[in-house]
Amino acid sequence: MKTIGLIGGMSWESSAEYYRMLNEQVKQRLGGLHSAECLMYSVDFEEIERFQSQGRWDEAGERLANVARSLEKGGAELIVLCTNTMHKVISSIEEAVSVPVLHIADATAKEIRANHLHTVGLLGTKYTMEQEFYKERIANSGIEVLIPEAAERDIINEIIFNELCLGEVNDTSKVKYRQVIQNLIDRGAQGIILGCTEIGLLIQGEDADVPVFDTAKIHVEAAVKKALDN
Ligand code: GLU
Repeated sequence: MKTIGLIGGMSWESSAEYYRMLNEQVKQRLGGLHSAECLMYSVDFEEIERFQSQGRWDEAGERLANVARSLEKGGAELIVLCTNTMHKVISSIEEAVSVPVLHIADATAKEIRANHLHTVGLLGTKYTMEQEFYKERIANSGIEVLIPEAAERDIINEIIFNELCLGEVNDTSKVKYRQVIQNLIDRGAQGIILGCTEIGLLIQGEDADVPVFDTAKIHVEAAVKKALDN
């Protein structure tokens, strides 16, 4: 089993889910008392969020590159960045280490293709929904990406930062998310990407009439496969 290095803390609410799912999946695959060989370097999200909101992406990239170096030094044989948004700076991380970095959007696109879907709706932070770094990675796999309308994007983003990243899961927010999902379906989405690693805390498969792609879960599955199979 390869040792998985997790760059976490963005937010720790979803990193805890990564840790849980990683161990559950290894146990499922290997049985008995097996659990995941892993290291997590969990950062202070306040610092990272400030870099995001001030557009200081280069500094954020350097910070996470240093984290990745520490993980590699500690024995990590592959790197998993436990946030969609910070994949904006994935190239800084890739350049800093010699071990593979598993891209969350690539794993997600692969899963969407396996389901034979060609148009999906994307929910995530405003950075993920509005900027190109994430959408283009999915689109490069021949999948069309729809994003919510501007007012809906504000709602989705605000709930991520003001509730989910703080561990708050509210029914009223679930209703709002379900409405945005339905609007995306009405516009032609055949599936919905939960493109923020905390959204799975609020929305599950039964909340949509189409397949839902939980990026945190898919990312963990890809990491376990890589750690155990090759
Ligand atoms: N975990 C989130 C994501 O997957 C949002 C937090 C962040 O901005 O990194 O994008």
